Amino acid sequence: MTIDESGVLVVGGGVIGLTSAIALAESGRRVRLISRDAAGGTTSAVAGGLCWPYRVQPYARAVRWSVRSYEVLAALAERPAETGARMVTGTMTAEVADGTAGPAAADDGLTAWYEAVPELRRARPDELPEGGASGWRARTPLVDMPAHLRYLERRFAAAGGVVERRPVTSLAEAGREAGTVVNCSGLGARDLVPDPGVYPVQGQLVIVENPGVEEWFVSAAPGAAETTYVLPQPYGVVLGGTACEHAWSREPNPAVAVAIVARCARRFPALARARVLAHRVGLRPARSEVRLAAERLPGGALCVHNYGHGGAGVTVAWGCADDVVRLIAEADAA
Ligand SMILES: Cc1cc2nc3c(=O)[nH]c(=O)nc-3n(C[C@H](O)[C@H](O)[C@H](O)COP(=O)(O)OP(=O)(O)OC[C@H]3O[C@@H](n4cnc5c(N)ncnc54)[C@H](O)[C@@H]3O)c2cc1C
Repeated sequence: MTIDESGVLVVGGGVIGLTSAIALAESGRRVRLISRDAAGGTTSAVAGGLCWPYRVQPYARAVRWSVRSYEVLAALAERPAETGARMVTGTMTAEVADGTAGPAAADDGLTAWYEAVPELRRARPDELPEGGASGWRARTPLVDMPAHLRYLERRFAAAGGVVERRPVTSLAEAGREAGTVVNCSGLGARDLVPDPGVYPVQGQLVIVENPGVEEWFVSAAPGAAETTYVLPQPYGVVLGGTACEHAWSREPNPAVAVAIVARCARRFPALARARVLAHRVGLRPARSEVRLAAERLPGGALCVHNYGHGGAGVTVAWGCADDVVRLIAEADAA
């Protein structure tokens, strides 16, 4: 194996690996991306695709990354058929245990996000579920992830990037192939780094035929295991969801699916009768906070870690990719 000293090897072909690889390739670097799974088989392909910071820490950095991604995705939404991104209006609120909506507080750590999203405003009572709720109305990017991942792969190839489908068994081994490694292995970082602080937050979804839903709706209390979301995608409406910490199964649970549809039908009654098209389960790569930092591998190669994006990988990906490019440039200059 010859070392490509000035080249970059990105491990991971989900939304985090692909955006990092594109940002690097488009900045003039020679980039190879190695992924164990096809893009369609990643957690990223399961994501509902809403651009909104959720279950990701630290909030201050996550908001900065989210605002940057919002800008990129809003521009891509001008070409929805090509990129899979669209701008869609919707309502964000929080649901409390009795099924009514609780406060989506202004001091929930996302103030900078609320200030940055154009035209975001407090929801009026008639725009919220019953129960004296508060929430937000906003027009945000909503991304058809299977289509978006195909777009990202095409864009990476157009920038000269090369994809290899195989597992990487150690970062030190990767560092013997290229001068710089970018670790975007998601939940795989648990074994690859190894980092026992990375753990799954399992999410189940039901995809149904669209009975006429045009807006998105999310009610997700921080830390709750059950959420309600309704995301109209071109392939059907994505109904969610669950957030079960440390649950590893990827098998849809039929009882959970029934409960998801019932919760969503409280908001849009026609969903109760909508034909079910598919069931999906994905494992969010959670961590106490995103690890986006550089270190030297044993052989001396630079490694930039970019993993642990929890429930917001789609939302923060482009902002994180910018930081990856910056960290490598800083190491080059040092
Ligand atoms: C039900 C559900 C709904 C969601 N909805 C949203 C949403 O609306 N908005 C949002 O922003 N986020 C959402 N998310 C979160 C989002 O899906 C994740 O944060 C994001 O997909 C993480 O991307 P990733 O690239 O880090 O990981 P992944 O997509 O899991 O990709 C990891 C990559 O690393 C590769 N890999 C791992 N180990 C190795 C190895 N040893 N060698 C080689 N390759 C390796 C894998 O093959 C894969 O290519 C949702 C998640 C779930 C489960």
